[in-house]
Amino acid sequence: MILAILTDIEGTTTSVSFVFDCLFPYARARLAAFVRENGHDPAVREQLDAVARESGRSLSDDEAVAQLIQWIDEDRKITPLKALQGMIWEAGYLKGDFTGHVYPDAVKYLRQWKAQGLALYVYSSGSVKAQQLLFGHSDAGDMRPLFSGWFDTQAGPKREAASYRLIASQIGLPPGDILFLSDIKEELDAARAAGMQTIWLVRGAIPDPEATHRQVTSFDEIRI
Ligand SMILES: [Mg+2]
Repeated sequence: MILAILTDIEGTTTSVSFVFDCLFPYARARLAAFVRENGHDPAVREQLDAVARESGRSLSDDEAVAQLIQWIDEDRKITPLKALQGMIWEAGYLKGDFTGHVYPDAVKYLRQWKAQGLALYVYSSGSVKAQQLLFGHSDAGDMRPLFSGWFDTQAGPKREAASYRLIASQIGLPPGDILFLSDIKEELDAARAAGMQTIWLVRGAIPDPEATHRQVTSFDEIRI
């Protein structure tokens, strides 16, 4: 019996393209101006200091920006870079420069499952803060009240069963009562190894005939 649903974001509730073609280019394009305009803010200064520490030398703000751009282009996941990207996205959401993409079928069924009494949770490699910004400023408005909890890689890597065991214990349910939704097979394998039920979102992809996880092309095909 399914009592809770744990969902991935990118590729599951949200198009991968929103993240890669909207969020990341937006932060890259705004980085220099953001640092120029907000460098006096202690929270921003703290991250610029962390950039200097990571690169092992003192940096002017322009040099720090150049270093950050280089990390972006190298696809490095450096903490101060992630923190500054988060601040730039927050400003963008608040200004209404974009809204968080959520597939209409995901909006419809997340609302329906919540109304049926299921507890909904998010598990994404994006930070909890980034998750809440996306769902708080989504295409369908503020979806945050639908969710009972949020998990990021503080709970552990998404491809390791231990992460799903920890999340189940934090949710307070046996893993078998939790359904995990993802577009990545290795994540589903890890969730199943922890005892969770699984469904594989294969949006726009060709279903894998060898797959042992149930495959659906949208939330419309999921029956609880
Ligand atoms: Mg995903």
